[in-house]
Formats: sequence, C-alpha cells, structure tokens
Amino acid sequence: MPESVIASPRPRVLSGMRPTGKLHLGNYMGALANWVKLQDQYDCYFFIADWHALTTDYADTSKITQNILDVTLDYLAAGLDPAKSVLFLQSKVRQHAELNLLLGMITPLGWLERVPTYKEQQENLTSKDLSNFGFLGYPLLMASDILIYQPQFVPVGNDQTAHVELTREVARRFNQFYKLNGEEVLPEPKVLLTPSPKLPGTDGRKMSKSYGNTIMLTDPIPEVRKKLKTMVTDPARVRRTDPGDPDKCPVGDLHKVFSSPETLAKMYEGCRSAGIGCIECKGWAADSLVQVLEPMQERRARYTVPQVMEILEDGSNRARTRAEQTMQQVRAAMQMPLTTTSAH
Ligand code: SF4
Repeated sequence: MPESVIASPRPRVLSGMRPTGKLHLGNYMGALANWVKLQDQYDCYFFIADWHALTTDYADTSKITQNILDVTLDYLAAGLDPAKSVLFLQSKVRQHAELNLLLGMITPLGWLERVPTYKEQQENLTSKDLSNFGFLGYPLLMASDILIYQPQFVPVGNDQTAHVELTREVARRFNQFYKLNGEEVLPEPKVLLTPSPKLPGTDGRKMSKSYGNTIMLTDPIPEVRKKLKTMVTDPARVRRTDPGDPDKCPVGDLHKVFSSPETLAKMYEGCRSAGIGCIECKGWAADSLVQVLEPMQERRARYTVPQVMEILEDGSNRARTRAEQTMQQVRAAMQMPLTTTSAH
C-alpha cells in the first residue's frame, strides 16, 4: 500500500443511510446505537447516501436537502461525534461514482438481478417505476461506497448481509483481473454483525415509516407518551384481571430493549399476575424511552444548520482524501495512469 494512505492502527468500518427524512427508534436501534459504540474501537466512516435516495425517489428531489440535514442532525443527536468519526455526504465524494463506473464494467448483470431486495422492492413499491438502470445498479453503488474506503468491516444487521456478500464478490473479481505490483487492491470486507433487537411499532408490526407506526427521535416527549398509550398489547389480556404475557406483547418488547433490569422484573411479575394494568405498564415503558430520547433531543438542539453543513463539508473533505488514495491504486492497477482526477 502506498505510503500516502492514511494509517490508522484501528480497523476501518464504513456504513451509511439513505436520507429519506427524520429517523425513528427502529433506525436508531438497528444501526445508529451500534455505530455510536463502534466509534471508540474503529476508524469509522459514516455517510449520508444521497445518491441512493435517487434510485427510488428520482422523480421528486425537492425534499432531499432537508432530508440530508435531518438525517445528519439525527446522527449527531444519537451521539456520532465528528471528532471521532468521519461524517460525510456521498455526493460530495465523486470518487464513489468513478469507482462505481469502473466496477460496472466487470460486474455481471445476473449478480445484481439476484440481490433479494431488487425483486422485493419492485413488487412492494408499486407506486414507482423501478425498472431503471440506477435501481438495478444500487447494490453495486453500495459496493463502491464500501470498497473505496478499503474497510476491514461493514457493520450490518442480519438482513443486510447479502449486500456485503455482493461487495466481496465484486472485490474478488476486481482482484482477479487487476493487481498493483502483484498485490490485491480491494480487500474483501467482512460483515460485522451488529445486534438489531426486535423493535415493534405502535401497531405491533415492525417499526417502519410505511406502516405509520413510528416513534421518531424528534417526537416531543408528550407525543411519545401519547403514542405509547395507544400501543397494542397482548391480545389475550382483554380485562384488567386477565394475566398477560410480556413475550407476546409489543410493549413488552419495548421494555426488553429500553428498560432497566429492575423495571423489566416488575413488568414481568405484574403482567403475569395481573398485578398491574397495561396503562401503568405503558407509562413505565414511556419513562424508559424518555431516558433515551431526551438526551438525544437536547444534543440535537445544540446544532445550527450552518454548523451541520460545516461538519458535512469537513467530513466530506476527509473522506475524499481517503477515497482518492484508493482510486489512485485502482487506476494504476487497471493501467489507466493517464486518468488523473483531482482530489477535489
Ligand atoms: S401489562 Fe404490559 S406487557 Fe403485559 S400485556 Fe399489558 S402492556 Fe403488555
């Protein structure tokens, strides 16, 4: 590896999210909470995948700037720290697009067509025409986003391992065709499986904006308490005197994620003996959520829009420097030394 590559003694990780608006507790528990923990052990790159938002929302881009700001604010509110992690915007690092183009030359179409989410989303998002090149190619753009930082790990939940597998296949294929001084250029990143606990929405289904059952990180606290009050419970517990089972109750699932061992113990005991009512139990769950949400909302309020823009600008500059180092190796390995691209 050339000397110019920024050396960090810690393994590098890379992950990102599409800016589709403010984030909810499911996004927090599924990714952000883990990322915050990784900051102290890894050399972290976290990005806002604004080009990815276009793969499905290409027809109306009017909200994209606001969505980028909202997601960045949610990153910061959750505890991502620009002093520890590189927080950046994908479209400000054009090298992602260059690598995507080059990898597109060697990626068989069949690899993209068999990514499970490709068919699933085409079937589910019937309101949009997803028969476009960008949508088919989004897993390869994702692979480029990853490989350009030559990370050792990609932190993902169980349901996203197929994308990392495709990334590894693409890296392997590149390395078969091209080498730099006999060395492989694109290391195959490994999956860093992160816990993603079951987090139900207020109707008991998986928390998701498309179901309208979310608790947002920015919901005012009274609103959070109100949402909890309407949350579905164990269907077997019809009357106050009926014992319930927290393992069959979405409120119980929230307790398992957010409540202290003491609260959990009294919840299990009270529910199974019918010693407590569901209203009381939901109040305890709301208290536990508030303990997580309040510090986030306080942190969020400390940032102004110009500060957020500056954080993204600074992070994108750092990411670009790192990405360009990889691209220099990629171009050289492909024997395209005359393709000089400025780092800016
Ligand atoms: S007491 Fe709590 S855990 Fe039990 S059914 Fe009611 S809300 Fe669910």
